[in-house]
Amino acid sequence: MAVAKDDVMWIEEPEMGFWEMTFLPAILDGLKTTIRHVTHYDPVTQQYPEEKPSLPLHYRGVHRLNRDEKGRVKCVACMLCATACPADCISIEASAAPPDWPDRDKFPATFVLDELRCIYCGMCEEACPVDAIELTHIYDLTGETRESMRFDREKLLAVYDKTKDDPRDPLRTRRGKLGPAADFGTLPTVAPATQVTAGDRSAQSTAPGTIHTYNNPRPFDDPGGAT
Ligand code: SF4
Ligand code: SF4
Repeated sequence: MAVAKDDVMWIEEPEMGFWEMTFLPAILDGLKTTIRHVTHYDPVTQQYPEEKPSLPLHYRGVHRLNRDEKGRVKCVACMLCATACPADCISIEASAAPPDWPDRDKFPATFVLDELRCIYCGMCEEACPVDAIELTHIYDLTGETRESMRFDREKLLAVYDKTKDDPRDPLRTRRGKLGPAADFGTLPTVAPATQVTAGDRSAQSTAPGTIHTYNNPRPFDDPGGAT
């Protein structure tokens, strides 16, 4: 496509005067910047792990799978999170829900999220129609093997159990009760993450995370009544 003449802007090379040709003004400018940094030293480096970071609002850390009011996994295995995930790090195998779970057709027989592959974009949380998956404030996740970073349903439920009472990770459920897809039209609209207020998620706390696979793997060993 031809470029319109009006879209072209010609830039003339500026002519250098005597002082510019000596480079003294540029050198003085550089010295001024150096002196400003020396006299107004404002460190930005944090001495982690002695100092815990002050997390920004809406920090997106390790995931959790929420439970419903009966303690069951809230996920209905609709696959929307796996479909929305740009990193392709969620694998779910759906099964027919047990007969005594009349509020849904399916549940996740397996749910695996690869925390190493995840880019923590939050799309899974945005996509979930029943607020079953959420990202938490936990940032200091470590593991000794790649396999240990593939969080299965029980681990993700254990993260929920560990974080649900933490003021930094209140349940952000907006959808109301868990129900079949037909209910979605009548349920309250979910607020986008950008509209979550400070009161929803006080991520500015400087307290450390609570779950460590590195030196405290116990929380994830607890099956926690996944179903
Ligand atoms: S945060 Fe993003 S990359 Fe990670 S599991 Fe969710 S959708 Fe996938
Ligand atoms: S979007 Fe929500 S309900 Fe659907 S599979 Fe993912 S976590 Fe489960």
